[in-house]
Amino acid sequence: MELLKQRILQDGRCFPGGILKVDSFINHQMDPVLMYQMAEEFVRRFQGENINKIITIEASGIAPAIMVGYIMQLPVVFVKKKVPSTMENVLTSVVYSFTKGKDYPVCISQDFLKPTDRLLFIDDFLAHGNAAMGIIDLAKQSGAVIAGMGFLIEKVFQGGGDKLRQDGYHVESLAMIDSLDNCQIVFHAE
Ligand code: 5GP
Repeated sequence: MELLKQRILQDGRCFPGGILKVDSFINHQMDPVLMYQMAEEFVRRFQGENINKIITIEASGIAPAIMVGYIMQLPVVFVKKKVPSTMENVLTSVVYSFTKGKDYPVCISQDFLKPTDRLLFIDDFLAHGNAAMGIIDLAKQSGAVIAGMGFLIEKVFQGGGDKLRQDGYHVESLAMIDSLDNCQIVFHAE
């Protein structure tokens, strides 16, 4: 998506270790106009997948996910990173965080994840695919189907997208980055 790529070039910042910081428009301060346009693009790319619910993971996935849910008029549920004491019918999994360098538990109430659900998973970044694997695990436990996975930014060089596509998932990423070597942003040729 050209608009997002231009914005990344304008406002994104690279950090050593293959990290891209987009905290001035995606994951700290947010640009709701861009967020809405990105959500419209997801809706276009996933039409025909018969989705009935949007799923994401806190915190940075929530903003794009709720925009998609708003346009599609579908409920949005987010996976939590701490189990609230009041949560009922809890399903849990474990996700390895690449940015934090450690495992963390994730959970969702089965009340909001049903065997009849066809889910669209939305997140800000796809790197190694660990968050996505956690969502796949939770969906499997509940019997729900993952009908699509949409990411604002995919870091192709970290391999998560290849793995998910090989496993047969419909993955769409709005900006695909082949390399961040020497802090240069190289987009994937589309
Ligand atoms: P994965 O689970 O695919 O390895 O990594 C995806 C998650 O890690 C995203 O939810 C995102 O929060 C975080 N992440 C991975 N790479 C980056 C990055 O380059 N920049 C930022 N801001 N977050 C990242």
